[in-house]
Parts: sequence; C-alpha cells; structure tokens
Amino acid sequence: MNTELQTYTPAPDLLEERAILVTGAGDGIGAAAARRFAKHGATVVLVGRTQAKLEAVYDAIEAAGGKKPAIFVMDFAKAQGDDYQNLFDGLEKELGKLDGLLHNAGILGSRSPIEHYEIPTWLETIHVNLNAPFILTQTLLPLLRKSADPAVVFTSSGVGRKGRAYWGAYAVSKFGIEGLAQILADECDNIRVNCINPGPIRTAMRKLAYPGEDPSTLKTPADILEPYLFLIGPDSQGTTGQSLDCQ
Ligand code: NDP
Repeated sequence: MNTELQTYTPAPDLLEERAILVTGAGDGIGAAAARRFAKHGATVVLVGRTQAKLEAVYDAIEAAGGKKPAIFVMDFAKAQGDDYQNLFDGLEKELGKLDGLLHNAGILGSRSPIEHYEIPTWLETIHVNLNAPFILTQTLLPLLRKSADPAVVFTSSGVGRKGRAYWGAYAVSKFGIEGLAQILADECDNIRVNCINPGPIRTAMRKLAYPGEDPSTLKTPADILEPYLFLIGPDSQGTTGQSLDCQ
C-alpha cells in the first residue's frame, strides 16, 4: 500500500451528505465498498446485473442503520443509451447530484493466449470493463458537476500496468481504464479522478483466475477499503490522475 495510506483512518462521518454510486455492488469488493460507504454516512446507489444480490446489500445496509440506498439493475454487457439515460433521470430526480462514482464492476474474460482468444469474449470483456465505465462516466458528469466535491474512482489491476501472458482482454481493458482515468483527470479541474488496484482479494473473480489457490491466504474485500474511502471522500482533495495500490 502507498505509504500515505498505511495509517489512513477515515472519520466516522466521512461521507455524510454524499451520494455515491458503486457498480458491481452486489458481490465481492463492490458489495463491501457499498456497505462501508454507507457506514460512513453515504447514500449509496447500488448498480449491478443481479437484482437479488443488490437487494441483499440493500438489506444489510438498512439493518446496519445506514441511509436508504437506491438500486438500479443494469447489465453493462447489454445496456443501451436508454438504460443509461434512465439511470441519469432517476438519480437527478431522487438525489439531484452525485458526489462519488466507483467503477468496480468487471469480468475476467478468458485466460488464454492472444493467438487463441475467442473474439466474442474479447469484445464483451472490453465492453463491460472499459466501454461501460466510459459511457457511465460521460452520462453522469452533469450530476458530478452538481456536487461541491466530486470524485471518480476507476478499478485497475496489476496487469493493467504491465502486460502478462494469458491475461488478454482483461489486461487490455485495465490498461484502457488507466488511460481513461488519466485523460479525464487532465480534462476536469473540479473533479478528482483516480485509479485503484485492489491487489489479490478473496472474491469470485479471483477464484476464477486462480482455481487452485487457497482463498484463506488472501485478504478479504473488507480488509482493503481504506484507500477506497480515501479516494472517494474529501481527504483526497488535491489528489488526481493517480493510480494507487491497496496492498
Ligand atoms: P467479483 O466477480 O466478485 O464481482 C464483480 C461484480 O461486477 C459483481 O457484482 C458482478 O455482478 C458485477 N458485474 C460483472 N459483470 C457485470 C455486468 N455485465 N453488468 C453489471 N455488473 C457486472 O469481482 P471482484 O470483486 O474481485 O472485482 C471487483 C473489481 O476489482 C473488478 O473491476 C476487478 O477487475 C478488480 N480487481 C479484482 C482483483 C481481485 O483479486 N479480486 C484484483 C485486481 C482487480 P454479479 O455478482 O451479478 O455477477
């Protein structure tokens, strides 16, 4: 983890009065981040493709005394312009602004050499991991601009900085995310934009990538959320165009 984050302790009310959207909020890191953001006072907008999973996170937030979340079911592999517009309209009506946007949803694609990579899998992986965050960001920028202190966080990966064999479209999508974040950060004076790399975390995606690994050797999503809180909240004011590591 970056040294300045090693001792970071978020205030209990860090995200009070803030509306924060999390994609892929039904499982893994996204579910844990949404719950933690709510614990620190945020109204969270839970976006993902499986309604039952989003409802379980919603229930957990309510049971923990958090503010009533919003749920938007969206499959980024299939979403069209109208789906993004409906999300924008719903958020504008219900919240009027957006203070934080965590792009977390992602798929692994296949672990395969470029020579044999299935083209439909390549296209879907790039679409969900890179095109969808671009479209979502572009759609929601007007709502972010209505916030007094907006932050956008993109999720990267170690293979988004240094290519490695058999990581194919996933790695390429994460290289793209790093570039998208740098460009957006450079274009936006009043919105801070950063990338985060969680490192190896005990989730369904990690299990898919490393089926033989003992999951008990890995950190859980709940273990690595301080850097997420730092970047999405006010303590990262002045930090933009960076790519941070959680571990
Ligand atoms: P999980 O597979 O546990 O969770 C991914 C989430 O994204 C799920 O909620 C999933 O929904 C959602 N999602 C997937 N596809 C779509 C889609 N088409 N539309 C909407 N939502 C979708 O993964 P992690 O929590 O491990 O990963 C979170 C992020 O962290 C990803 O961007 C990943 O690349 C990154 N990362 C993870 C690492 C790790 O070791 N775990 C390491 C480096 C980076 P559903 O549950 O309904 O399928």
